[in-house]
Amino acid sequence: MEHDDDTVRRIYLDDLDQVLPGFAGNVVEAEVQRWPTGAPYCFPGRGKLQRTLTRRSGRVFLAGDYLGTLSTETAIQTGLSAAHEVRSLLATGRQTAARDLTPARSAS
Ligand SMILES: Cc1cc2nc3c(=O)[nH]c(=O)nc-3n(C[C@H](O)[C@H](O)[C@H](O)COP(=O)(O)OP(=O)(O)OC[C@H]3O[C@@H](n4cnc5c(N)ncnc54)[C@H](O)[C@@H]3O)c2cc1C
Repeated sequence: MEHDDDTVRRIYLDDLDQVLPGFAGNVVEAEVQRWPTGAPYCFPGRGKLQRTLTRRSGRVFLAGDYLGTLSTETAIQTGLSAAHEVRSLLATGRQTAARDLTPARSAS
């Protein structure tokens, strides 16, 4: 709170750059918001959506803190998991396409 906006932006971008080298150079816009107090909340009945959100669904992979209860930890875990599943699906698709293009051997 005691830093000016430019300093806050720099701290965040430097931090991100350590985890994702080169990231800061690609940021075109960053907005600093100051919330002296703040709390996340859900609307009543939000829990009824949970079963649908966590259901596996073909080629759609969700990630985010709303899939679990550990906030950032859940966001990271589900992001990694979704990325692995997408990569696996794409690899399977490539293998299937390559197999389909390979001429069948004759049985002689
Ligand atoms: C006040 C507060 C304090 C918190 N403190 C902690 C803490 O101490 N520790 C902790 O682990 N977690 C904390 N959290 C929770 C943590 O911030 C979240 O769990 C985490 O940011 C979730 O990451 P995410 O990627 O799932 O979602 P987000 O960080 O919310 O990212 C979702 C992104 O999607 C973008 N978006 C939304 N809709 C669209 C659209 N239609 N098109 C394009 N982009 C879109 C949003 O702009 C946002 O950038 C806190 C949250 C709040 C609000």
